Amino acid sequence: MHKANNHNTRRQFFRSLGGHGPLQRPPWTDHDFTERCVRCAACIETCPEGVLFHGGGGYPEIRFDQAGCSLCRACVEACDAGVFDTQRPAFPWRARIESHCLALADIHCQSCQDACEWQAIVFSPQLGRPPKPRLNGEACTGCGACQALCPNHAITMTSEEMAHAE
Ligand code: SF4
Ligand code: SF4
Repeated sequence: MHKANNHNTRRQFFRSLGGHGPLQRPPWTDHDFTERCVRCAACIETCPEGVLFHGGGGYPEIRFDQAGCSLCRACVEACDAGVFDTQRPAFPWRARIESHCLALADIHCQSCQDACEWQAIVFSPQLGRPPKPRLNGEACTGCGACQALCPNHAITMTSEEMAHAE
């Protein structure tokens, strides 16, 4: 497809996601997945974590409101349209711990560390104060498990592309 058309497709996709911001295509997909996706919902129906939803235009969208993606690849197996490419990283975004994190305000909480099976969030002990979290961006897969479990909604998923998605 022509580059300008690709750009338009991307802009339309982001716009169609409305109130959820520039979120969030399924794992192992790129902006152009809407060109191949036939909106059959096979991936949505098979996802054991329930993180895939009907998004804008009926295209699948991922949300980490209740759970993270376990990277189980059931969606990949279910798709007959060649939408998924497991040669790429599952997600282009990574977790970011925002300033209203409870632990950063000296309130004891380690929910994100407990949620992360990739050990991408570590808490360093501090003398006389609750430990504070630190994200290892190299280990983070962007799976969203920490975002789903944070009691203060203090974790966001961010990426370079989101920053430029208007
Ligand atoms: S990899 Fe598994 S958990 Fe993740 S979106 Fe696909 S089906 Fe759902
Ligand atoms: S998004 Fe990153 S830090 Fe959060 S649970 Fe997944 S791998 Fe761990």
